[in-house]
Amino acid sequence: MKRILKTLAKKPALISTITFVLLAVVIASVALAGRTPAVPDESSPVLEQKTMREGYGLYIDGKLIAATSIEAVIQDTLDYVLDSRLNEFSGDTVTSGSFTNTITTVFGEYEESAFVTSASLAALLGIESESVYTVSVKDYNGTECGVKLNLRVTTESKVTNVLESDIVYVDNGNLLATHEDVVVVEGQDGITEDVYESVYINGECISKKYLSSTVVVEAVDRVIERGVLDNERFTASSGDTSVNDSPFIMPYDGGYISSYYGWRSMGWHSGIDIIGGPGVPCYGDPFWAARDGVVTFAGNSGTYGLVIIIKHEDGSETRYAHCSTIKVTVGEVVEQGQIIGNIGDTGFVTGPHLHFEIRFDGQTVNPLEYVRLYK
Ligand SMILES: [Zn+2]
Repeated sequence: MKRILKTLAKKPALISTITFVLLAVVIASVALAGRTPAVPDESSPVLEQKTMREGYGLYIDGKLIAATSIEAVIQDTLDYVLDSRLNEFSGDTVTSGSFTNTITTVFGEYEESAFVTSASLAALLGIESESVYTVSVKDYNGTECGVKLNLRVTTESKVTNVLESDIVYVDNGNLLATHEDVVVVEGQDGITEDVYESVYINGECISKKYLSSTVVVEAVDRVIERGVLDNERFTASSGDTSVNDSPFIMPYDGGYISSYYGWRSMGWHSGIDIIGGPGVPCYGDPFWAARDGVVTFAGNSGTYGLVIIIKHEDGSETRYAHCSTIKVTVGEVVEQGQIIGNIGDTGFVTGPHLHFEIRFDGQTVNPLEYVRLYK
């Protein structure tokens, strides 16, 4: 240990303990002698003893925070501070945690007052209690020195998610006549556990990325049997052979059915959607009245877009929706097969098609059960 005498500034706080003790002894002796002590006034330089000793100085971002006699105390305290601050991530798995500051330990001579205990050092580094801490660091004088201890933490968190069951369609020729879907296996959703990696700076999440998924419970496919309609074209002369005497015909030739009547993934479907075929454009193609009748509506109507409604002699109705153009007017008498409009994509559609409905007493029916095989 070295002691150095140094002339110092007038700051009372900097008067070392030894100086203070010597001064006290002087004052006491003078008092005993019955004389008024000569206290040095602030303007006069005081000869002060400042004690320095060898030790290890902790520097954070170039600033001296404090010193210790034993080097390991610094690292142990830093580890303790790091652990304390990692406690806030108790819900997740911490995969790495470190301070991003430049932290160095330098051997040298430091003022006696710079030397601190491990507990004091932890307090200077912001640990107020086991669960309370501040980010800003104080130096051994107890003043904030403009240094922030920045903590970077990487965690892995697990999130449970629903694994939706797939729908598997199985063709069944027996269902062609009714065009019904039959659910043969109900299916069930599964469960996955998804792992995400998050990066935090001082507790604030700055990035989150998906790492992996584990299937905890397998999903069971929902199996639905449906009629086979692959490559079957619907024309004015095709339809259900059981209704050959039906007064309705298909309103568009060479069409594929892109969506059938009934419950579909999008909800209840009140008609059939007819398209040109996979990859065959139908936009602008003419279509015709499925049966003789009188036009009762021809115009724009909400999700139907441009729509034509024709009333037939038995009170039934046919509707033709999503038209690009309408070629008839309300009150006009039309014949079966007469061109009444062109296919379009007006209203609520995902692409051009003709939405065709048949209604009896206002209630929709499956048009494919009513369009006949024309002779
Ligand atoms: Zn439709």
